[in-house]
Amino acid sequence: MLQLSRSRIISLFCFTLATVISVQSFVTNRTKVVPVITDPVVTAPSNNEVVTVPDESKAAEVAPISIIQESTEKQSTLVIGSGDTIMSVLSSIGMTREQAYLAVEALRKVYNPKALKVGQQLHVVYKNDDKAAGISLISVDFKTSAGSDIALRYKNGEFSAEKFEVKLTIVQRKITGTINSSFYSAALKRGVPARIVKEAISALSYDINWQHDPKSGDAFVIMYEVMEDAEGNVIKAGELKFAAFAPKGNWRKIYAFQTNAGTTGYFNTKGESVVKSLLQTPLDPSRMRITSKFGRRKDPMQNYTKMHKGVDFGAPTGTPVMSAGDGTIIKAGWNGAYGNYILVRHNSEYCTAYAHLSKIHVKPGTKVRQRQLIGAVGSTGRSTGAHLHYEVIHKGVQVNPQLVKQLPTAKLEGKEFAKFQKIKATLDNHAITDPIAQVAAQKLSLAG
Ligand SMILES: [Zn+2]
Repeated sequence: MLQLSRSRIISLFCFTLATVISVQSFVTNRTKVVPVITDPVVTAPSNNEVVTVPDESKAAEVAPISIIQESTEKQSTLVIGSGDTIMSVLSSIGMTREQAYLAVEALRKVYNPKALKVGQQLHVVYKNDDKAAGISLISVDFKTSAGSDIALRYKNGEFSAEKFEVKLTIVQRKITGTINSSFYSAALKRGVPARIVKEAISALSYDINWQHDPKSGDAFVIMYEVMEDAEGNVIKAGELKFAAFAPKGNWRKIYAFQTNAGTTGYFNTKGESVVKSLLQTPLDPSRMRITSKFGRRKDPMQNYTKMHKGVDFGAPTGTPVMSAGDGTIIKAGWNGAYGNYILVRHNSEYCTAYAHLSKIHVKPGTKVRQRQLIGAVGSTGRSTGAHLHYEVIHKGVQVNPQLVKQLPTAKLEGKEFAKFQKIKATLDNHAITDPIAQVAAQKLSLAG
């Protein structure tokens, strides 16, 4: 009747104080009347056991058994698995769909059930009196991925939910170390989240050849933000602020800096942006073929030659389209012959455009990362079949995307550069007071 997968149940325990006390008091009161009443299977299923339904014969022979069950609160900690929803989890412990629906609706007022993540834990308290009517939920408590506490309660015949916001403090973390085999594994070993390490590697790759440069013993420093709750628990990692790596003792550094345009990027010691080049193929290369290159061509729909200002990638409708670089969405919507169209600005000089889309997943003003999903291939506007028309626009003029190897490094200047230098000085001061002394100290600490 109650199908709970083992993996989902961290623990299923019914020996709560309340239960024990209520059962015991009941037992004490009633033992004289019905001495056979304390069948432990009924009131206390063992740890890894599915909540057990008492077998019919016993239920028949022990008359007041339903009274025992009434006083039996059950608690379990349910872990969200892949494909689970709150609805499916509540149904899995025996709640009727109607009741689970009401619970989810109440929850929705303070929490988006779709935000639930695999591995998240729900602490559920319920009663299990009337098997036919399903379990009656008493409460559900869990922590959101942002650290807030959610409490769902059943009172006076209805569900209500409350959210308790958690105040998070941003704390800067500094991790130093030396590599053994790779920068990536050394940083992971030091507890730096994978996302932060990848970001550091990507930003530092402007100046480091990760295939050849790193040698065992090379030092690194990574500084990033973490969000902590009042008890100092790390709720989530924030942004990478600084990364430095010293192949052959020669420090290469990158600094996070928010430009006047409002975008945060990484800059080297000279204040030059270390932005990666734009993707030449903003969709899965295995799912497309180039059907029309940039340049003069015969118009596919009319009988004269004209300039083709982008590259066409033939791909099935629905193929995901990614942003070619970090940037801000400038346009996202219908644009005449272009059909559904997205325009992304990457810096003061470069934009990219994506046309004939079947779907648009972003809105103007949204900041996007390189390779972030922004839309899907389609055949909207003036198009003869499913394809992506991709343009790279340099200072307002379409250029050949296949020739744009590297975005020119935007260099900070004037007041912006002065502001950058201040931030750089603070980070340097905090991160590497004296690189040589620091490496020496690390070697000492490693030797010790
Ligand atoms: Zn085209």
